[in-house]
Amino acid sequence: MRAADTLQASLREVVGDANVLTDPDAMAGFLVDWTGAYRGEADAVVRPRTTDEVSAVVRICSGAGARICVQGGNTGLVGGSVPPARRDPERPTILLSTSRMTDIDEVDVIGRCVGAQAGATVAAIDARAAQAGLAFPIDLASRESATAGGVVSTNAGGTRMIRRGNTRSQVLGIEAVLADGRVLRRWTSLIKDNVGYDLPGLLAGSEGTLAVVTRVLFRLVVPPASAVVAVAAVDHVQTAIDLIGAASSQGLTVEAAELMTEAGIALVHEHGQRHPTASRAPFYVLLEVCGPGDIEAATAELLSGTDGLADAVLEPAPARALWGARESHTESIARSSATPVVKLDISVPIRALPEAFADLAGVGDSGDFDCRPVLFGHVGDGNIHVNLLDVPVERAGDVTDTVFGIVSAHGGSISAEHGIGRAKARWTHLGRSDVDLDAMRAIKSALDPQWLLNPGVIFG
Ligand SMILES: Cc1cc2nc3c(=O)[nH]c(=O)nc-3n(C[C@H](O)[C@H](O)[C@H](O)COP(=O)(O)OP(=O)(O)OC[C@H]3O[C@@H](n4cnc5c(N)ncnc54)[C@H](O)[C@@H]3O)c2cc1C
Repeated sequence: MRAADTLQASLREVVGDANVLTDPDAMAGFLVDWTGAYRGEADAVVRPRTTDEVSAVVRICSGAGARICVQGGNTGLVGGSVPPARRDPERPTILLSTSRMTDIDEVDVIGRCVGAQAGATVAAIDARAAQAGLAFPIDLASRESATAGGVVSTNAGGTRMIRRGNTRSQVLGIEAVLADGRVLRRWTSLIKDNVGYDLPGLLAGSEGTLAVVTRVLFRLVVPPASAVVAVAAVDHVQTAIDLIGAASSQGLTVEAAELMTEAGIALVHEHGQRHPTASRAPFYVLLEVCGPGDIEAATAELLSGTDGLADAVLEPAPARALWGARESHTESIARSSATPVVKLDISVPIRALPEAFADLAGVGDSGDFDCRPVLFGHVGDGNIHVNLLDVPVERAGDVTDTVFGIVSAHGGSISAEHGIGRAKARWTHLGRSDVDLDAMRAIKSALDPQWLLNPGVIFG
């Protein structure tokens, strides 16, 4: 019997026949990532329901020397949620999907936290929090599919990061299966607990390379009583930055601050979104603010007191149509490129944003091939999503080098919030020193001595 057949038989005993997929058609959707640029191969897709089942699956794989690729909602944008492109006949590969692990506990209203299984979606956790008058502090356009395990493992940022911080800072406790099948459980709603290393913090952002996250205890927050959303059409990136700064200086709390360009707005408009303002301008800044008193009047005053605004609109939150123009960027871009979009999620210091924007927008002007840049992002965090459309496949590496050169020149990071995955594994030396990378490899080897978890992710 082949090693893969023996492995499949053992896995069926743990999760049942229906939850070990081996038919190519049944596996197909799990083996391609959201962007369509990354396709992998696996000997089986395994769908456990409980932590005990995950533990048994990992123990079997560890014993067999089989590689495990972990997948949540499969909305990651760096190719980390699918297995390597080629199967290794000597070492079987399974894809472990958390799609059946969707339980969410009752909300602890006094401790302001909730426990969720790894496969629960961001939208479902937020809906459970809302039933208790609270909110999940992480929000992103992929909320209907992105999972608890996914946002923790990528340390997702999202649209509320400017106000609430990243996912790592929302994790109070974690349960995870280590590479040998043992269950690590740090589960406490204590606000202060400094006993040794911050292992939940380490697993946040580890992209499935150190353990399989099975459950997470998340912090919840009190949502603002009322908020407004404004979109201002502006001539310069600096005007957007000034507007965000002025909002804070005037006592408004900035819940979100996003920047879009005319190219992006035109694209989402083509795909059915309303143009946010009557007048056109090179840039559009979306601000969601809350605060005491008459928040609409205070925001209107803020807008009228800011120089360089071509036009502006203001609506009470949730202002879904205004947000729609911003949140549909990723999908509209994916549907508009002749070749796989080169997607680079970078950050620069806030003061460098205007120059970095100009340099990045010029990447398409090299002359030897056509390329359409569409830039947008969480501007309040210095985060720009660089999307390069119609790049000839064989030039994707060159254009990535050019973008990362610009990022380095401005003192930025090659990965702001999406992680490294497979897409950026070649370039980690641009963001971390040799000593730093050695320390990361030592941690990987200590927790996963056979390097079975998510091969090729982060370390290439
Ligand atoms: C339209 C759109 C908008 C987006 N907006 C944002 C945004 O604003 N901010 C942002 O940060 N990201 C954003 N993303 C990217 C993506 O949604 C996030 O990276 C998200 O956290 C991925 O969650 P997921 O459940 O889909 O994970 P997957 O894509 O399934 O996996 C992502 C990584 O996490 C690992 N992983 C998943 N689950 C587990 C687990 N249980 N244990 C261990 N490892 C695991 C995978 O192996 C992989 O390396 C967006 C994506 C789309 C498509």
